[in-house]
Amino acid sequence: MSDGFKDSTVAFLYASQTGNAESICYKIYEEAVSRGFQATYHVLDDYRKFNFDSLRTAVFVVSTTGDGDPPDNSARFWRVLRRTSKDPKAYGHLRYTVLGLGDTNYSNFCNTAVRLDKQLREAGAQTFYPRALADDATGLEDVVEPWIDGLWAPLAKVAVCGSGENTREASVAVEDAEQAARLVVDESSDVDGIADAVGAMSLAAVHQPLVLDFRAMAGLQKLTGTPRLPAAICSAVPSEKASADRDADLSTCPPWHEALVSEHEGDSALRPFVATITGYRQLTSADAVKRTLLLDIRLPESERTDVCVAGDSFNVFAPNDASLVSALLRRLDVSGDDLVALKSLDDRVELPVHLQRFQKGRYTVRDILTWSADLASAPKKHTLRALAECCTDTRDRERLLFLASRQGSAVFDELRRQAPNIVDLLHAFASCKPSIARLIELLPSLAPRAYSICNAPGNGLWRIAFNVVEYALEASDPFSASEDQRVSIERRGLCTPWLEMLARGNSGAHILVARRSGHFRLPPATTQPIIMVGPGTGVAPFIGFLEQRAVEDSSAIGSAWLFFGCRSPTRDHLFRAELDKWIDSAVLSRLSLCFSRDAAARDAADADVYVQDALKRHWEEVAELVVEKKALVFVCGDAKGMGRDVNEALADILCRYAAKHPDALPKLGVEPTKNDLDDQQEAMTKVQALQVLMRLASEKRYLRDLWA
Ligand code: NAP
Repeated sequence: MSDGFKDSTVAFLYASQTGNAESICYKIYEEAVSRGFQATYHVLDDYRKFNFDSLRTAVFVVSTTGDGDPPDNSARFWRVLRRTSKDPKAYGHLRYTVLGLGDTNYSNFCNTAVRLDKQLREAGAQTFYPRALADDATGLEDVVEPWIDGLWAPLAKVAVCGSGENTREASVAVEDAEQAARLVVDESSDVDGIADAVGAMSLAAVHQPLVLDFRAMAGLQKLTGTPRLPAAICSAVPSEKASADRDADLSTCPPWHEALVSEHEGDSALRPFVATITGYRQLTSADAVKRTLLLDIRLPESERTDVCVAGDSFNVFAPNDASLVSALLRRLDVSGDDLVALKSLDDRVELPVHLQRFQKGRYTVRDILTWSADLASAPKKHTLRALAECCTDTRDRERLLFLASRQGSAVFDELRRQAPNIVDLLHAFASCKPSIARLIELLPSLAPRAYSICNAPGNGLWRIAFNVVEYALEASDPFSASEDQRVSIERRGLCTPWLEMLARGNSGAHILVARRSGHFRLPPATTQPIIMVGPGTGVAPFIGFLEQRAVEDSSAIGSAWLFFGCRSPTRDHLFRAELDKWIDSAVLSRLSLCFSRDAAARDAADADVYVQDALKRHWEEVAELVVEKKALVFVCGDAKGMGRDVNEALADILCRYAAKHPDALPKLGVEPTKNDLDDQQEAMTKVQALQVLMRLASEKRYLRDLWA
């Protein structure tokens, strides 16, 4: 065969934290099959199923989470890859490419993709098509769509592309794109009419208004950059099968929780299990900006030999709000309580992994929408493109196409800022009525939510501290009749309001949880000093660290210094009593407090505004601990603001210390450099200091647990 050197099957592999990478990978896989490639599609952790060691052609789509960490559903794969990739010939037979998804607002942009690429190359694998890194800060589609368009020709050089009547020719795809590009917006659109309709988007109760200004559409002749219309992949057919067994006590767990447990059999570290909420305490006052709860979760007997330690985190499987699901069913005019079976429309194409369990027809539409579909994920352009085709009203269709186009980018950004759920969208575009199968395939899978363990586990109890996510957004309605054009849009998180409801409702509610692989750990009885930086709920793992230290021999362990920040000492000073107690008993050597919104309290306590201000104030002692005493630095909390600012502050501190103590440079592994501007000797540049921090991170002396 002339294609003898080519592999017959291409593996499309993903690692996804929020479902984005999964749905993009699926989209590429589906297109590959329709183009005549023989393909498989798997989550990376299923590496045994796709026999990773003998793979010849692979396309990876991977996202990055936290502080440059790989998604949870690739933890087992990474363990294997770390072992095998030490052999420079281990993957000499593999031809691959990588599409990375990330966000430049966070540090370590697309770290998973970069690391994967590096390790595969070091193990002898060769790329057949250049890697691409897509940035959610500027729009994933800007990179993803052209990368997919360019993939097929190089892929055809390394993998056999068959032909047949179902093989989609490349030209057809081009025509698809052209068709979208040639869409003409109706110039006679009445701008005021649009304005009215925008105003009419304000609807009550379960869905919230969207305030979007479509005036930029007026006069547009042509839309460009609209993504290709996603192919339909499944149908939903009524099922005659018996419904899956349900235990009323476990109605707060996914109906397929037993299947989830058995899918992870043999991996006790990550296998989900049912735990029980046994109590809660509110940590903030009634007038605090955020409501923070501390929840007690009791592990079942079977899990009492707990492998978790302070600093680890775990996943909670949470459902969509029942009223949101009901509103969606009503809006689509679908009965939620009939059993359905999802079927692939093309025998050669598997359903996305998260939909495969619905092929047997043992679950209802309501089950699927409640536990498996992310109803509130940020709108994607390809979803809007698909929804446009489900509209009966031309104006709705054109507006959705506009939002998906390059010309509509600013309005699309505003749409994302307003964080609509799917019900908000369907109400805003009133004639849009996708079939239930179309909607289910368009929505990303619902990911479990992660929480840090806020105690030293060991007696079968996990505690978590979390803010109940409820907030109001403001949008400006340019067509408002009133002088004040502001419109308030209420939003709620998925998991935390649900946990609060369970906790306040009754003790004993069951929830499905799963351990995550952990890296943010305090070594037992360490003699190294530790510096902990954790404003807000970022303090959670440090409460566990301090509980751990409280039972260690205090004369044999290093010092511990905590930098904690809140808004006011009387409203949201989390764990105040515990921290005071640990200061008194010297479990905690030093506590630096910051009060961001209470100037009087700051003056009274000589406190700072933010934790990075306190670090800078104590710069010399902090740097001395890091440089001379090899302190371990732990930072936990918000990735975007605090994580970045603290990193900058630490780099500044190291520069300042190096300037005052040039003899410390070798201890940081830094050569003195010349400053190009004034030819003066400069001890250490900021760039070098940032590199030092990266090295300390790789040596696990600077550990960060950052949350999006
Ligand atoms: P928060 O209450 O919003 O803020 C705590 C303090 O940090 C406030 O005083 C706030 O000041 C201040 N702050 C705001 N921006 C800052 C910046 N750039 N640098 C330093 N301080 C800043 O905190 P939070 O909502 O609890 O946030 C903690 C983060 O940790 C969240 O992202 C959360 O997801 C994550 N986390 C969660 C868990 C968990 O298990 N639930 C565990 C660990 C970490 P102002 O508001 O006055 O500006």
